[in-house]
Amino acid sequence: MDKKLVYSWLDEHTGEAVSLLKDLLRIPSVNPYFDDEESLKGEGNAQRCLQAFIEQMGFRTELSYPDAQELIDYKDKAGYNGDHTFEDRPNLFGELKGEGGGRSILLSGHMDVVQTGSKWTHDPFSADQVGDTIYGRGSVDMKGGIAAMTMAVKAIRECGIRLKGDVRIGTVVDEEAGGMGTLALVARGYRADGCIITEPTHMNLAPLCRGILWGKIIVEGQAGHIELKRQDWKEGGAVDAIDKAAYILEYFKSFNENWAHTKAHKYLPIPCQIKFAQFEAGEYPTTFANHAELTFDAQYLPQDKDENGLGGKVKKEIEDFVAAIAATDPYLKANPPRIEWILDADCGETFDTEDFFKVTVSCLQDLCPDAIVEGNCAHTDMGWFCNVGIPTINLGPGDSKLCHQSDEHIEIPEYIQCAKVIASIILDWCGVSE
Ligand SMILES: [Zn+2]
Repeated sequence: MDKKLVYSWLDEHTGEAVSLLKDLLRIPSVNPYFDDEESLKGEGNAQRCLQAFIEQMGFRTELSYPDAQELIDYKDKAGYNGDHTFEDRPNLFGELKGEGGGRSILLSGHMDVVQTGSKWTHDPFSADQVGDTIYGRGSVDMKGGIAAMTMAVKAIRECGIRLKGDVRIGTVVDEEAGGMGTLALVARGYRADGCIITEPTHMNLAPLCRGILWGKIIVEGQAGHIELKRQDWKEGGAVDAIDKAAYILEYFKSFNENWAHTKAHKYLPIPCQIKFAQFEAGEYPTTFANHAELTFDAQYLPQDKDENGLGGKVKKEIEDFVAAIAATDPYLKANPPRIEWILDADCGETFDTEDFFKVTVSCLQDLCPDAIVEGNCAHTDMGWFCNVGIPTINLGPGDSKLCHQSDEHIEIPEYIQCAKVIASIILDWCGVSE
């Protein structure tokens, strides 16, 4: 079987590929946890649009609705958000049966997008095209990837090639607000021998993503006139919460230096760190701050996941470190800082010893010789697929730096290139029936 037939089909049908992508972009599917605007809540419409498209290709399909009550067994696990509701927010699952005797593949992506934000020079939901560039919210993150994986299967079908293994498509809702869509898809029992998430990797291969923790260190001081001589804090004298917070911050330099060695990964360009993003303290100019909050983002590696697939062990490490800092200062020892946890987004990893990794990397580098293997520094939904033993990689078109930005856009040649790479992987992985 000549893969070139499939590649030529995709070149000749660029127009059809572009129109599928534009159809998806023109249906706003903003995650409702970002924007209350009714007219933008279209995850259901976008899923039905793709459903109709893949049914025409011969897929058997099913829409299913995540439900917090049904998923209650997962309440301490990754992706579970008990207060999320799913009216007209279905997951789409589709299956195209192979001839038998081959390995199955799951192609996955999220249909929700983040809010549009400001400063667009193109309508975020018109799918404007200028030259080879298509603009729109979700063009990169990640309707470009969803359309590319769909066109990859279509190209194989239209070339009359019969696959041995099954091809499954699973597109989910709610990725941008926690990942309950993918949790529900996996909880429903959908599996495959390998999975590609077509998140934007700029056509590099990302065999892992990091976990993300958001937290807040809260330091209490004691207010008091800032211009006067201070009494001992034990006798009710003022304590500057800014000063104490700065004291804590200073220790995190050595913490991060340590993590630079212990939390690095050969497929990540930067190690995990704790980065402080917000510092809030004080009330007015003439009093010492009686309260300070340091908000941070800490990343963790898949190897550091706890038994729930989350960052519990890393949280403990940070809590212990803050407690150790507090022990070095008499006031902080008596008034220990607290940590409030805000978010824990899970992670996953597929090792380069896996067959699926080897097949995907070789297909990718055949078509894109400059492609590299580099993990996603940010979160994707791969954690649950890895948790249930499905080798999973991220591979998709578009520059992830454009995600969540105004004037998000994708280049058509890269989009088509992605469809070719995915078609090539499907052919090699699922096998062709002669
Ligand atoms: Zn995404």
